[in-house]
Amino acid sequence: LTERLNSVWATLKDEDDLSLENIKGPLKDIRRALLEADVSLPVVRRFIKNIEQKAIGTRVTKGVNAGQQLTKVVADELCELMGGFGGDSLAFKDPSMGPTVILMAGLQGVGKTTACGKLALYLKKQGKDSLLVATDVYRPAAIEQLKRLGEQVKTPVFDMGVRVDPPEVARLGLEKARAEGIDVVIIDTAGRLQVDVHLMEELRATKIATAADEILLVVDAMTGQEAAALTAAFDEAVGITGAVLTKMDGDTRGGAALSVREVSGKPIKFTGVGEKMEALEPFYPERMASRILGMGDVVTLVERAQQVVKNEEAEQMRDKILSATFDFNDFIKQMEMMGQMGGMDGFMKLLPGMSGMSEREMQEADKSLKVAKSLILSMTSKERQFPDILVAGASAKSRRKRIIEGAGRSEKDLSQLIVLFGSMRVKMQKMTAEITGASAEVGLT
Ligand code: GDP
Ligand code: MG
Repeated sequence: LTERLNSVWATLKDEDDLSLENIKGPLKDIRRALLEADVSLPVVRRFIKNIEQKAIGTRVTKGVNAGQQLTKVVADELCELMGGFGGDSLAFKDPSMGPTVILMAGLQGVGKTTACGKLALYLKKQGKDSLLVATDVYRPAAIEQLKRLGEQVKTPVFDMGVRVDPPEVARLGLEKARAEGIDVVIIDTAGRLQVDVHLMEELRATKIATAADEILLVVDAMTGQEAAALTAAFDEAVGITGAVLTKMDGDTRGGAALSVREVSGKPIKFTGVGEKMEALEPFYPERMASRILGMGDVVTLVERAQQVVKNEEAEQMRDKILSATFDFNDFIKQMEMMGQMGGMDGFMKLLPGMSGMSEREMQEADKSLKVAKSLILSMTSKERQFPDILVAGASAKSRRKRIIEGAGRSEKDLSQLIVLFGSMRVKMQKMTAEITGASAEVGLT
């Protein structure tokens, strides 16, 4: 898609607005990418509709093209769908309240038992010890498997053999953990080939018996389209708090992640990336987003999106300058933007015709950021809005005195700020004059 992004989306280059007409092609691309990634159709439809609604009528910011603007809308929507950047962590109970209980649920063969072992190891590395509890009481092999994994990750396993009541095993396991001061109880459960009422009943009873803190739905990343229905069924019956997406080491695109998230609104908390016990990672939404859209790198996408935001801000600022309402409030905002944008130099490049500032002036401006901010913050709103009253007028002297005292700065600092502000404003007004053809009105200095 990256290539398509550059070619098909390039047709958007000269557009001023995003419209139903000009985003049609790109949206088709995204739709296809999502379907190829096995995102379920209703989820795709909703996603595309959201993008459509957000994109249409969006004015394209100067300095970026319409393709980039649409990219921002897509990136934002993806981030939102993925639960915001940063991933989610487990909800741990206050240790004085007893062990945190994590219940693993899911169909057969998706990787529940494996994930239990992985999670125990993952938590051990964070200094938390666990008790694994075997409630898959239908197959002796299932209990053996959990015991074997427990040995591997040096974590005790609690079981009561087969043909016992799963919620009861879970409850006794929790009691044992509580008595031994173990931090976390991880409950492995039985799966079925399909969603079935008995399984759901059993899970619900186990959840109630242990007052489970986390109910993680374990989903095979290769599940594809059915992930949506599966998630809905488990969430309705048991109420999940998150998901673990396993087998992400395969060549699946992982569209299931999007479906799980969209259907349940719950975060994907971990991904399984192999059979080894170490192969568990926290969920990285941006990586997932790249993978699903088949874009090489959504990080770049997001960076581009941020560029759009910067340009939007710069544009607003320029509008203010052009309408000659630039005051100390804008000045302080501008200084903050400079800080974010690699200093004065980077910022000035965004303002057409503003490269006329000398190197020294720029350095000075960067350095004065802190001083300036403190001074401006101790100005009254009237002084910020009408800086000239600090230079001329009956009250100028007392105003200046009050400001420097409030800011803990010297008279010299304030004079420098006023000079700097003045010279910036003069330059800006010169630019205004050049652009509008009006005569430059000289302000302070
Ligand atoms: P359960 O029935 O849900 O308990 O599933 P298991 O934990 O027994 O796993 C079923 C199979 O999937 C086993 O062969 C695991 O080794 C394998 N498996 C589990 N997680 C992953 C993973 O993240 N990547 C890969 N490649 N295989 C996995
Ligand atoms: Mg199992």
